Amino acid sequence: MPGATRVGSRPPVVDHGPRVGNLVALTFDADMTDGMLGNLRAGRVTSYANLRILDLLEREQVPATFFLTGKWVERYPDLTRRIADNPRFELANHTYGHLAFTGDCYDLPRVPAKGMTDDVAKTFRVIEPYGGRQTRYFRFPGLCHNAAALDALAPLGLTVVDGDVVSGDPFATAWKPLVRAVLDNVRPGSVVIMHVTEANAAMTDEALPHILAGLRERGLVPAPLSEVLTPA
Ligand SMILES: [Zn+2]
Repeated sequence: MPGATRVGSRPPVVDHGPRVGNLVALTFDADMTDGMLGNLRAGRVTSYANLRILDLLEREQVPATFFLTGKWVERYPDLTRRIADNPRFELANHTYGHLAFTGDCYDLPRVPAKGMTDDVAKTFRVIEPYGGRQTRYFRFPGLCHNAAALDALAPLGLTVVDGDVVSGDPFATAWKPLVRAVLDNVRPGSVVIMHVTEANAAMTDEALPHILAGLRERGLVPAPLSEVLTPA
């Protein structure tokens, strides 16, 4: 399985693939916290699932990789099925409830040190029944990790994926800066970090067509993460 590593050894952390060829990975994080679920229940927020992103990727037949939290999957099972059923999409792990794995991570509440391994293992168990292109890729919330967090994941045989192109889409209020952030930094082998969380990343779907056009101009081609990290 893509991203699988030797169980018991500290997982590797990768930012990008080899700087050869023309492939890049578009990755979309699907965050979900208890606070976000509360916002949905109270009607303060309509959706943390950006359907316009899915529609566009499907219509244009663009490969992508989704880093799913367990709580997002449980809130949006139909959309998870839709992602898993697309042969161009890969599924990856973004923790169960988007808790921080280090002490200083964007004010996110922290997962107890003893709970780190179980949190990530549980998330794989939530995602795996959906099938499709499963992976052993994992991304920490806020990309926050240290030696203790990495050691906690050693039993799971996974690869930690950060990324080298940060779109800056969380809580963005305009789409042009996202397009610039991506296109100014993207290169062969790049892993671009975006979000599919709608209310918390409301400009991503507006930026995406311009990002796709800019990639085309640069001769760069989106591919599933596994094909970017481990070219054939
Ligand atoms: Zn996240």
